[in-house]
Amino acid sequence: MSTQPADIAHYIHGRLTPGTSSRSQHVTNPATGVVIGKVALASASDVDAAVESAAAAFPAWSATPPLRRARILFKFLALLNEHRDTLARMITTEHGKVFTDAQGEVTRGIEVVEFACGIPQLLKGDYTEQVSTNIDNWTLRQSLGVVAGITPFNFPVMVPMWMFPVAIACGNTFVLKPSPIDPSPSLLIAELFKEAGLPDGVFNVVQGDKEAVDALLDHPEVKAVSFVGSTPIANYIYETGARHGKRVQALGGAKNHMVVMPDADVEQVVDALIGAAFGSAGERCMAISVAVFVGDVADKVIPKLVERTRTLKILEGMNLAAEMGPIVSRVAHQRITGYIEQGIAEGAEMLVDGRDFDGSQAGADCAGGFWLGGTIFDHVTPAMKIYQEEIFGPVLACMRVKDFAEAVDLVNAHEFGNGTACYTRDGHIAREFATRIQVGMVGINVPIPVPMAWHGFGGWKRSLFGDMHAYGEEGVRFYTKQKSVMQRWPNSIAKGAEFAMPTSK
Ligand code: NAD
Repeated sequence: MSTQPADIAHYIHGRLTPGTSSRSQHVTNPATGVVIGKVALASASDVDAAVESAAAAFPAWSATPPLRRARILFKFLALLNEHRDTLARMITTEHGKVFTDAQGEVTRGIEVVEFACGIPQLLKGDYTEQVSTNIDNWTLRQSLGVVAGITPFNFPVMVPMWMFPVAIACGNTFVLKPSPIDPSPSLLIAELFKEAGLPDGVFNVVQGDKEAVDALLDHPEVKAVSFVGSTPIANYIYETGARHGKRVQALGGAKNHMVVMPDADVEQVVDALIGAAFGSAGERCMAISVAVFVGDVADKVIPKLVERTRTLKILEGMNLAAEMGPIVSRVAHQRITGYIEQGIAEGAEMLVDGRDFDGSQAGADCAGGFWLGGTIFDHVTPAMKIYQEEIFGPVLACMRVKDFAEAVDLVNAHEFGNGTACYTRDGHIAREFATRIQVGMVGINVPIPVPMAWHGFGGWKRSLFGDMHAYGEEGVRFYTKQKSVMQRWPNSIAKGAEFAMPTSK
């Protein structure tokens, strides 16, 4: 029995709305290839309506004491915990990642809400009494106004939650433009926020594509834009937003290396690589896509890795035995298989070919889904495109270097600098790695070092355009501007004008 695809709308001023545009896009379950929804694609006037709603809500929300804002966030947090599995199921249905992974995603998003609940403490300013006789000076941080978030398909709950909990806690009002590939969780989040008592207009969702993004970048009421996605689009968002006078934070793509030293524990390395390369089908900006083996350790790790890759449990995501689910879309599947063909043409040695995997093994009704197994190439070199470019799929490149110094130089020469890891038992090597590596997020025997909510997330080089990382204290700084106030009272003002530069007296 076929069912009609559900209409997926915008959420503006506290209610669902279909918007005014006639454009829409199919939403597909990647496990089956079946179209399950039709998401509206906003026109510039739909974006206007969302921004106007956010602008109208801003004066009252920014004047609401931070403690009262935090109380709404506490209620929102409780509702998120209650609906954690519903959100995770929505992610698995539209994105394809396995349910336990989706639960982990929701948890990592919730942690940012927990962090944002501490906003009264985070917004506390500095105060200096008596900077000069009878004069005091203090700094405070104030909200910006309407801010926008533009997010990728690969974390439809967690990445928006890197942004809006902090932005809203700081007193801003928010317009979220999620990926049209998996748009539904953002609407449930909007409803939970309303149920928690958030005033209408403080959090809005516009579904859409480039047209909506450009309308946000162009809109004079939008004061700041947070973006997460691929590097070419991040670059475009940064340059366009900055040209329009906005504050911009644009996180881009990645090519994350794991350096494996000869003294590393081989079993631990195999476990780490298999999870970090193939978890979420490699569609994580912190996935390990390059293993750099120092000395002869490659010969100990690679045979075990190949064996493990051949026996990966690739299943429909709601099957709790699943280790890896499908690729998100047909287009992504074609891009990844294109890179696999390229790797062969470039002369890399293929050890496991994920194209051999047949979706009908993944579960009932999966034959029409977008399936691929884990793929491993050995003897990859820096000159190959499969090394230089982000593939964003379950493809691991193995490289061999003679020593630690060569490994560090290799990682540092790459244009991306999002995440990296080093596996070793040597404290000196670990310390040198953390100090010398030109990458924003580093793991020592930790394969996916995504910083906790209070530490902030962000890469270096072409993995981040802008000055501040997402969430944590840098997030609070991004979503507020500092003001300095200097004060004295008439009774303590000496008579007479002063013409010299004031100094402390
Ligand atoms: P994407 O760049 O295609 O899309 C990201 C967002 O930009 C979406 O909302 C999309 O609708 C919008 N967009 C797409 N094309 C656009 C255009 N031409 N003009 C304006 N807006 C446009 O990225 P994706 O495929 O959704 O996500 C995967 C990418 O995101 C990977 O490159 C991954 O590394 C990156 N990513 C980075 C991080 C990070 O923290 N650095 C985190 C998650 C994902």
